[in-house]
Amino acid sequence: MKKIAVLIEIRDGKLKPSNLGVCSAAHESGGECIAFLLEGNAADAAATLQEYGIEKVVEIFTTHGAASWNPEVWAEAIIQAMVYYEIHALLGLASMQGKDLLARVAARLEAPLLMDCIAVNLVRHTAKKSQFSGKAIAEFKTCGDYHVYGIRPNALTAVPAPCRAAVESFKASTGSPGLSVKNLQPGLANDIDLTEANVIISGGRGMENGDNFNLLHACAQTISAAVGASRAAVDAGWVSHALQVGQTGKTVSPKVYIACGISGSVQHFAGMKTAGIIIAINKDPHAAIMSKCDYAVCANLFDIVPALTRKLRKPHKGSK
Ligand SMILES: Cc1cc2nc3c(=O)[nH]c(=O)nc-3n(C[C@H](O)[C@H](O)[C@H](O)COP(=O)(O)OP(=O)(O)OC[C@H]3O[C@@H](n4cnc5c(N)ncnc54)[C@H](O)[C@@H]3O)c2cc1C
Repeated sequence: MKKIAVLIEIRDGKLKPSNLGVCSAAHESGGECIAFLLEGNAADAAATLQEYGIEKVVEIFTTHGAASWNPEVWAEAIIQAMVYYEIHALLGLASMQGKDLLARVAARLEAPLLMDCIAVNLVRHTAKKSQFSGKAIAEFKTCGDYHVYGIRPNALTAVPAPCRAAVESFKASTGSPGLSVKNLQPGLANDIDLTEANVIISGGRGMENGDNFNLLHACAQTISAAVGASRAAVDAGWVSHALQVGQTGKTVSPKVYIACGISGSVQHFAGMKTAGIIIAINKDPHAAIMSKCDYAVCANLFDIVPALTRKLRKPHKGSK
């Protein structure tokens, strides 16, 4: 039986929810599904991962310690684990970390790498990717001994497939890396990872200045949403580039995307068109986004956003 490995990502000590959709894709292949974990608590992770078809959680240790991030050391450790467990297909998230790690693993294995996949078939070794700023979907086939796929966070649905996961340790013997990580500084942009968020409220040029983004932060707080931005807002210096959504920013797939004062350029859509529901707040009824969203609110965002925040802050009926 074929074995598939899923590279698990942890944030602030917790399993990123978007790992689960990747586990489901691995489980769908019908092969044995193994999770590789380089940080975090393996027993805790196993308790969740086994609900999504993961049969074994392998806690990988390196000569340089368990939880110290070094992409070169981690890539080497992952390859050793792949060889030991006879794994030929590796799946991970196309996150900042995944883009660094998976590319290194693929390069060393001389394996084909498909990044930002929105669907994957591990039996046929095919994956779908969005092309030309989302105007087309292309299906790629990978060939060779090894296959590496980076999945767009939240693009795949997590489907429960309960089983019992064993936990094992694997000690990789990693040599002296050419790269050392001196300092890791968390971004100041958002408490919630933009690519992981279920709800994103984004602002564009219509926000007028950086201070007005506090309106979005206040609204976001009420529903544990993340704040995003268009490139126009980022280029104006109102918010950090870490918040930019779009072709040259982050690609996001939240359940709900609320665009405030954003016109809906193709480059912005390239980053958020796979959102479940798109809501646009724009005072121009002819703005491109108004015909491309699920719900259009044709009004001044400075009236709507504070009103929305007040409404969301009010305790819901039935809640204590
Ligand atoms: C190679 C390339 C890459 C790019 N990558 C990206 C990218 O990654 N992400 C990105 O976003 N863009 C990107 N762009 C830029 C993109 O083309 C647009 O210029 C940009 O998305 C426009 O941002 P915006 O919608 O905020 O601004 P605008 O297009 O100026 O739209 C502002 C909107 O706000 C509305 N508005 C104004 N005031 C209010 C108000 N009070 N209430 C309600 N509505 C209001 C207006 O009606 C208007 O529709 C890229 C461009 C290029 C060429």
